[in-house]
Amino acid sequence: MYRTSPIIRWRRYEDRYLFNGLQCIKCKKVHYPAKKLCVCGSKDFKTKTLSGKGKLLTFTEVKYAPAQHASKAPYLIGIVELEEGPRIGGQIVDVSLDELKIGMPLERVFRRMYESGREGAIHYGAKFMPVF
Ligand SMILES: [Zn+2]
Repeated sequence: MYRTSPIIRWRRYEDRYLFNGLQCIKCKKVHYPAKKLCVCGSKDFKTKTLSGKGKLLTFTEVKYAPAQHASKAPYLIGIVELEEGPRIGGQIVDVSLDELKIGMPLERVFRRMYESGREGAIHYGAKFMPVF
């Protein structure tokens, strides 16, 4: 029974929980999420665990959110360039719109994302918060 727990299954998603990307053996470019073919043409990769640290490239405030996130609006989202190179989008937490600055350091944190209905599973995921 425990082997089929949604939480245990979720923890096996190495790209999400462990924040694993792939690094090309040939050109060293890091990809997140994983790709099957590098921009250099290689298909040879090794697992690369990402630091979760990066800098803010751009951001905006979401005032009118999709239904599953509507109760959290307004909230902040942005694009973060990770230290290893990949650029990923995500919610930015524990900061106000006035405090955000392009280029500021951010780090990845786990936070509640949404619930599957009133009594359903609670989904967690990566968000970003400033490093002060
Ligand atoms: Zn490559």
